[in-house]
Amino acid sequence: MRANCWAGRNEVEVREVPDPAILSGRDAIVGITSTAICGSDLHLVDGYVPTMQDGDVMGHEFMGEVLEVGPDVDPTRLRVGDRVVVPFPIACGACAACAAQLYSCCENSNPNAGIAEKMFGHPVAGLFGYSHLTGGFAGGQAQYARVPFADVGPLRIESDLTDEQVLFLSDILPTGYMGAEMCDIRPSDVVAVWGAGPVGQFAMDSARVLGAAAVIAIDKEPYRLRMAEEAGHIPVNFEEVDVRSRLLELSGGRGPDKCIDAVGMEATHGSAHLHAFDRVKQAVRSETDRPHALRQAIMSCRSGGIVSVVGVYGGFVDKFPAGAWMNRSVTLRTGQCHVQRYMTPLLERIERGELDPTRVITHRLTLEEAPRGYDIFKNKQADCEKVVLRP
Ligand code: NAD
Ligand code: ZN
Ligand code: ZN
Repeated sequence: MRANCWAGRNEVEVREVPDPAILSGRDAIVGITSTAICGSDLHLVDGYVPTMQDGDVMGHEFMGEVLEVGPDVDPTRLRVGDRVVVPFPIACGACAACAAQLYSCCENSNPNAGIAEKMFGHPVAGLFGYSHLTGGFAGGQAQYARVPFADVGPLRIESDLTDEQVLFLSDILPTGYMGAEMCDIRPSDVVAVWGAGPVGQFAMDSARVLGAAAVIAIDKEPYRLRMAEEAGHIPVNFEEVDVRSRLLELSGGRGPDKCIDAVGMEATHGSAHLHAFDRVKQAVRSETDRPHALRQAIMSCRSGGIVSVVGVYGGFVDKFPAGAWMNRSVTLRTGQCHVQRYMTPLLERIERGELDPTRVITHRLTLEEAPRGYDIFKNKQADCEKVVLRP
């Protein structure tokens, strides 16, 4: 099959690779109809996640048709011919974490759990297309993918919604939503979101549907801020204004009630202390004057407010403002998204027209064009917000 593969730092390449096969009784093979490039893929391309190998198949946001199922897949949950969206965390459905709906912390889905233990001192779950650290599973920027625990995660789409309307249930819509849900939003809340990438845009939309009085978008890319403004959010360009002063102005002098970090490691390029692994250490650049989103969120949040972090971090981040966090009773919440928990309720919100995930799609490319998709998404060219690939 054709697949978009990691080919070294800052390089992806579409190659011919072996077709996937059923390896365990609860696997399924999915023929992929739509797949997307995510901000998390950029952490791999950057070399920040150091356990990628030449030829690894990228991608964790995908959907398609079930072509084959293993003998132990529960037929009431999944059959050949079903149209499914596949969540990016691989989850067994049976461990203590899965029982608590903490699917992205599944204790059984990462055959390489020892690598993370050794690097970070804590385990991580299995993820599609996300390096050997998270199981070495081939990703979904390909014609086919093997889906483990296929009767747990994949969501059947039985209505006539288009791929573009449901594809982002695999990751970024639930992730943005979880970012907002962790904020316990009340009707008078001013919510500030760092990052107007696709995850940030969905965090903003979710904050609005959960009842926020005002939603603020912080970024530096004018076209991304424009996209947020067109959706009804208040843009703040961190290269043009002092973010903290502007946020105080927009929140009656106290700071936003709730703050969401939808930036993640990009913001740590100048200040990360990811000394647990050498390749990452090499990638860390010298201190720049770019503001650090997480630090700024904690410093800006009103006393007693909530800072919710869905931007991805790994290793260690220094200069954590422990004083502002502790002395002002700020609550900090975070996590890789527990996608499986949100898929059905968010599908219903899409069906009711409360959320329109298609609004972030700016580029529709073939799988063969994936390298160009990475290039424009990473370098913020051609007003690129979100790339969908059609294998
Ligand atoms: P993206 O790279 O397209 O968007 C990030 C945005 O942040 C960019 O527009 C960038 O200009 C902006 N930015 C950079 N520094 C900033 C700063 N200091 N203040 C404000 N904005 C700043 O990525 P995306 O696809 O929207 O993903 C965003 C983050 O969410 C990534 O870290 C990604 O890995 C993470 N993510 C997390 C989960 C999860 O399960 N928690 C799932 C998907 C993605
Ligand atoms: Zn993603
Ligand atoms: Zn589990």
